Amino acid sequence: MNVISIGGSARMLSKIFVNKNSVRKMAGGGVGLQLAGRLALVTGGGSGIGRSICEVFARNGASVVVADISVDNASQVANNLATDSGPDIKHHSCSVDVGDSNAVKQMVKETMSLYGRAPCIAVNSAGITKDSFMVSMEESSFDEVIRVNLKGTFLVTQAISVAMLEQGVERGSIINLGSISGKVGNIGQCNYAASKAGVEGLTKSAAKELALHGIRCNAVLPGFIKTPMTETVPEKVVSMMKKMIPAGRMGEPSEVAEACLFLASDQSGYITGTTIEVTGGLFA
Ligand code: NAP
Repeated sequence: MNVISIGGSARMLSKIFVNKNSVRKMAGGGVGLQLAGRLALVTGGGSGIGRSICEVFARNGASVVVADISVDNASQVANNLATDSGPDIKHHSCSVDVGDSNAVKQMVKETMSLYGRAPCIAVNSAGITKDSFMVSMEESSFDEVIRVNLKGTFLVTQAISVAMLEQGVERGSIINLGSISGKVGNIGQCNYAASKAGVEGLTKSAAKELALHGIRCNAVLPGFIKTPMTETVPEKVVSMMKKMIPAGRMGEPSEVAEACLFLASDQSGYITGTTIEVTGGLFA
């Protein structure tokens, strides 16, 4: 038996007794490939969280379309994904600006003609920040963040849903990357927080419309995750943030990807219209 302590001071600690074998099982041993034979499309797949999602999905038996505004990053990721997790696994990279409806339609068309079917999993991970205080924020910074994060998520969700419905895809799963900033707001991020709050409303509405067709739609809200997006945050702010996070550290992209794997798989088959926070307890 192991003893895992949760919390701060010794007196307040709760102690949970965990059987070593059950821990091993929960960590993946014996669970099998959760996405065997599935086709997944991941926007923003060329970097950070999106990249990690592509890697985790490929290791779990999915063929992955890595879509990103940077075609070089997308193809570099696609070329390095696992291909030995099942038969007929084929990855593909494509360039897309998710805020451009024609480019999004082209991406879906290209995917369908290459694979002969619609993806049954889609993840909207493409996103940007353009931070500044609300009182001095340029209109263009507001517009661009809404265009990529919110309109982009809408355009991809819409185009993928149409393709899934036309093809009668069973067990469809759409996963949108929101942010804990969308739930609680953040200084310097009124554009970003608004876009991510919008993503949650979009997700819940899409879930309600699609549920009867066997397509689920959920959001994942990361907290403070180590990716190129947070690389430029000053060290002073990073250490202040770490003090606020109950887990005491930033998250890894793979920890967000594992939540997406759960939402993509049949293990979450009755879960739709909800959000999973991956924050180490920040603002829980
Ligand atoms: P990232 O490393 O910057 O990855 C985002 C990817 O999206 C990049 O490859 C980026 O390309 C691409 N992209 C940007 N604009 C695009 C467009 N118009 N069309 C298609 N692709 C585009 O950021 P990340 O940290 O992995 O973030 C992934 C998602 O998680 C985002 O939606 C983000 O808002 C969300 N999130 C992240 C955190 C965090 O702490 N990292 C926290 C909460 C939520 P370029 O690099 O060329 O711009």
